[in-house]
Amino acid sequence: MRKPVSKGTRFRILARDNYACQYCGGRPPEIVLVVDHIIPVKEGGTGDDDNLIAACQPCNQGKAAKRLESVAPNPTARKRIRKNRRDLIKAAALAREAEEALHELRQTVVNLWCSVRQTDDIETSTLHVMVRYARDYGVPMLGDWITKAATKFPYERDYKIGKYVSGIRRKMIEQGEIT
Ligand SMILES: [Zn+2]
Repeated sequence: MRKPVSKGTRFRILARDNYACQYCGGRPPEIVLVVDHIIPVKEGGTGDDDNLIAACQPCNQGKAAKRLESVAPNPTARKRIRKNRRDLIKAAALAREAEEALHELRQTVVNLWCSVRQTDDIETSTLHVMVRYARDYGVPMLGDWITKAATKFPYERDYKIGKYVSGIRRKMIEQGEIT
């Protein structure tokens, strides 16, 4: 599935790229320009301007990277495309790392919660909040809070423990101990 580029975006990119194919330099009327993704959407490319480029149909049909080597676009455009590509790949890698870190943190919080509470699960909306606290205040502090809550209410449901943890946090904010 190809995500269509909106009319406004198309006009903006065409103007930015001087109404020329950024791979071969071709211009209308000899060619018809399209605005397309440098890194395809299905490979994680975004609809941001940096990932969009004006290209003629023949250039657009092949792989942009391959074309870059075989076709000779103007050097400035080639440099910009390369840089954009590098930036996009870097951004994708960072996003992946952040996603993995979040996944790990979530697992840490689940294990922390289950260790303190002696259960084998945590209710989803409570987990969501606890992960946020772990991210903002660190796992050790969250561990203290959960332990306090679980000590006070050993038999309550997750929701109640979560509420109490939130109360501890609120009090600490009021007392200026955390922000
Ligand atoms: Zn072209």
